[in-house]
Order: sequence, then structure tokens, then C-alpha cells
Amino acid sequence: MTLTKVGIIGAGQLGQMLGFAAQTLDIECVFLDPGDNPPAACTGEILKYAFDSDEGLSKLANSVDVVTYEFENVPVEAVRKIPEGTPVYPAPRALEVAQDRLFEKTLFQALGIPIPEFRQVDSVHDLRNACNDLGLPVVLKTRKLGYDGKGQIIVQSESQIDKAVASLGNSDLIAEQWVPFEFETSAIGARTVSGKIRYYPLTVNEHRNGILHMSRAPGESTVLEEKGNAYLERLMLELDYVGVLALELFVKNGELLANEFAPRVHNSGHWTIEGAETSQFENHLRAILDMPPGRTDMKSPAGMLNLIGKMPRDLTHFETAPCFLHDYGKSARPGRKLGHVTVIAHSPAERDSILKKLAKSQNP
Ligand code: AMP
Repeated sequence: MTLTKVGIIGAGQLGQMLGFAAQTLDIECVFLDPGDNPPAACTGEILKYAFDSDEGLSKLANSVDVVTYEFENVPVEAVRKIPEGTPVYPAPRALEVAQDRLFEKTLFQALGIPIPEFRQVDSVHDLRNACNDLGLPVVLKTRKLGYDGKGQIIVQSESQIDKAVASLGNSDLIAEQWVPFEFETSAIGARTVSGKIRYYPLTVNEHRNGILHMSRAPGESTVLEEKGNAYLERLMLELDYVGVLALELFVKNGELLANEFAPRVHNSGHWTIEGAETSQFENHLRAILDMPPGRTDMKSPAGMLNLIGKMPRDLTHFETAPCFLHDYGKSARPGRKLGHVTVIAHSPAERDSILKKLAKSQNP
């Protein structure tokens, strides 16, 4: 029997977790990544090439059955270079839309998915008009290459307009209404090549400095979950999507407003490794290989705390049941995601209390 091989563009921590899931399915992974000893190196072969290297992409395509990617800033042109004989999932259009906030918001609108009001901004004049139309404050964001709160500024007063536009490069921006949300949430699901869809329970997320700090599942309400999954399904069908898709949403006055989507496995779904019947990583692989999707039910209330910047000095509480430590093996740097810990509890109250203690001992 020949071994199934999956090619993954990018070998960071998401690649590493895909690689671990592949091992449980007897699937081999080959990664394309220019980094020295990237996190996923412990789970498969690394082709050390730039993400857009013709030689690297052709070697990858020739050595695997299917190609996927673990981050959304993979150059779309690179993905389009992969020869037709090797399928790429999710298809490049999902990547193209996710890489540009203007395309993304335009698609949300076309699909009737509610979003904060926004305006395209290519000059100081545009931002002035946007502030007049939307009311202050507004969030000014770069259309491309923004992540974890980078490439965005909250404009609180008219006197900040000139500086804000200049600091984000003068053009290719969008301004959106600042949303005083109650909380943030994500809808995550997987769709297989033959179109079977499975949804995970809605996850409630807390960000700090624009970076995901904590996630908790299940979410607060089944009504929100149904709505979130309905929006996710619209996106999946429109994009003929294959793989795991995460849709990030704000909750305001009990209603959902879409912020952005990620065409890949997502940080807010890391709790699924221990907390769900089948992890998002396994289901991504199942989806792109057209295997039957695994059950997405929760085993018990689960939470996840990101370990950012530096690992806690004493890991005892982080690696003792009911806590599960994931150390990505990366060198410490401010703002860098170095690992996470998942908490599996008997009740949401127990989960929240353990998460609180861990967060406190991480940053005493
Ligand atoms: P993003 O890069 O768009 O995911 O934004 C990062 C984080 O900034 C989000 O998770 C929110 O916490 C916050 N944020 C982004 N856009 C808005 C907005 N329009 N209103 C309020 N907060 C926002």
C-alpha cells in the first residue's frame, strides 16, 4: 500500500499540529518553508525553499497527493503555480479573498453576512469622508498583510486622521465602524471534497493587544451558533471550499457581525485537540483527502490559553491534568505565540476558574 502524502506550505505551529494529526492517520507530510528548523520539522520532511520558489513548489507538488497551506499570506500566485495534477485545497480564490479586507467585506455583503459598516480609503480625503459617514471612532486597517492587530489604528478624533493615513502607507486601506462588542466568537467547520460539512461548537474568544489570548467552548448560545454556522456555510458553498474554515465574528446586542475569515486551521480551534471527538487538524486532513469527516462534538467544556512572548517559568500547573501543554519549540520573542495550554473541565465554571489561575501565574 502506498502511503498518502500531504504537502503543506508553511511549517509553523499550525503545520506542526497538522503533522501530529497526520501521524495518527498514517499520512506523511512534506512541508515547504524557508526557515531554519521550523516547528513542523519534527513531524515531516522540510523542503527549504521560499514560499514562491518555482523549484520548491514543483518539488512539493511532485512528491505529494494533495497540497494545502497553514497560513493565509502564502502568495496566491505561488499556489496557482502548482500543476493541475496535484489538487490544492482550499482553492486559491479563498486565499485571494482572505488576503484583502476589501474583497473579504465585499463578499460578506454579497452573501448577506452582516458586517460593521466600512469605507474604502486611499487618501486623507477618503478617511475624512469615512469618519463623517461612520462616526468616530473608526478602525483604520491595511487591506493586506494585517494580522494579530498589526496594520490597524483606532482613529478617535479628526486631529488623528492625517497621521493615521500616513502611518499605514497612505492608500490601500479600509475604515470600519468601531464595534463596542460584548464578546468575540468564531465559527469553525470543515468541508470535504465531496461536500460533507461538520461544524464545531461556537468558540468564545478574548483578545489582548489584537492577539488571541483565550478561547472557550462551547459558546454562550445555540441561537448564535446556528447563525454563525449558517454564515460559515454560505462562505463555504460560495467558495466551493475544502478544508477547515474559521469565521471570526463580533457579538453586539445579541447579533453577529463578521470581522474576517481564515482559510485554514485556526488558533481559536486549538481546544479541539483534546476537547472534541476529532480535532480541527485531523478534520482538515480528512476534508482535503475526501475521507469521511470525524465527529465534532465536544467531549467536555474546554478552554485554551495562548502562551505568548515567553513561556511560564514553572510549567507544573500547565502540564498537569486537566491541563494539556503544547510547546511549539520556538525561541522566545515579545508578541510571539510560543505554545498554548488546553483545559478540559467538568463544567464551564471549573474551566473558567482554571483558565483564570493559569493566566495569572503566566503573568503574575
Ligand atoms: P483583526 O486583525 O481585524 O482580526 O483585528 C484584531 C482585533 O482587533 C479583533 O479581534 C478585535 O478585538 C479588534 N477589532 C478589529 N476590528 C474592530 C472593530 N471594527 N471594532 C472593534 N474592535 C475591532
